[in-house]
Amino acid sequence: MSEREPPVGPLDALNHPRYAGIRTFARLPTVESVARTDVAILGAPFDGGTSFRPGARFGPAAIREAALLLRPYNEPLDVSPFAELQVADAGDAAPNPLDIGEAHSSIQTRAAELHAAGARVLGLGGDHSVALPLMRAAAAAHGPLSLLQLDAHTDTWDSYFGAKLSHGTVVRRAAEDGVIDPAASVQIGLRGPLYSAEDLAENRALGFATLLARELDATGVAGAIALAGEWLRSPVYVTVDVDVLDPAFAPGTGTPEPGGLSSRELLAILRGVADLDLDVVAADVVEVSPPYDAGGVTATAAAAVAYDLLGLMVLSAR
Ligand code: MN
Ligand code: MN
Repeated sequence: MSEREPPVGPLDALNHPRYAGIRTFARLPTVESVARTDVAILGAPFDGGTSFRPGARFGPAAIREAALLLRPYNEPLDVSPFAELQVADAGDAAPNPLDIGEAHSSIQTRAAELHAAGARVLGLGGDHSVALPLMRAAAAAHGPLSLLQLDAHTDTWDSYFGAKLSHGTVVRRAAEDGVIDPAASVQIGLRGPLYSAEDLAENRALGFATLLARELDATGVAGAIALAGEWLRSPVYVTVDVDVLDPAFAPGTGTPEPGGLSSRELLAILRGVADLDLDVVAADVVEVSPPYDAGGVTATAAAAVAYDLLGLMVLSAR
């Protein structure tokens, strides 16, 4: 396929029913079956960084299953992602389930290969620790990243049980390594009981702009988008920890916190980012734990989030 040939899209659901066939994301072709890839979907099935309920290693498979229903036109963003760019499924990285360093290394290597081939990378977790190798690969290709983190938690603990790597420490590690620039990074949706007031103070001292979930009551979605517009700059990495959603909308996750965003609020914030004229070079949606998911509610929300992240990348590529 030359540069000018149209992308290979998903299987046509009017010929092949959505529930039939092999489960790639949105029934897209695999990266091996197309000549170039503009956006690669990469699964990171690892949950050895989890501090409470495990199971996110099964997240990529569940999100792919839920993504069977995604149709080709993104109405709110007015974009047809699969027609405009070559989006393809890169399958899963093969993380060592018993060694977090090894696991991160294999995820980073695979993501780096995809970036080196010119693709934007959309990661499917996995617990939030997988965002670290995904961000490292993106930063190696594009330079220090401006991070938009949608999450109930800051993930900026220094350590947990003496371990420097876990899903609760990755954002601090990324800041320390210069992978992200905290002064150009925004966290939205933070909430829940903490160990002490120091947790949030320390997080802010690192330089992040924050909007607590309860502050959304006053600012609304528009306030969240305005904060993102004030702080973010290209290149941007968007990480969506599905626990940013209220457990009513996302029960299937490792560390649920009541008082979270609705699916509609989260999607509206992501869509608002489309108007900020930023270059979203990579993104992820993480912490979907299918064993705790009822009726695929959480995976369905994550697939919708992934679809809008894809839309943001297509708009970025224009
Ligand atoms: Mn979280
Ligand atoms: Mn997180």
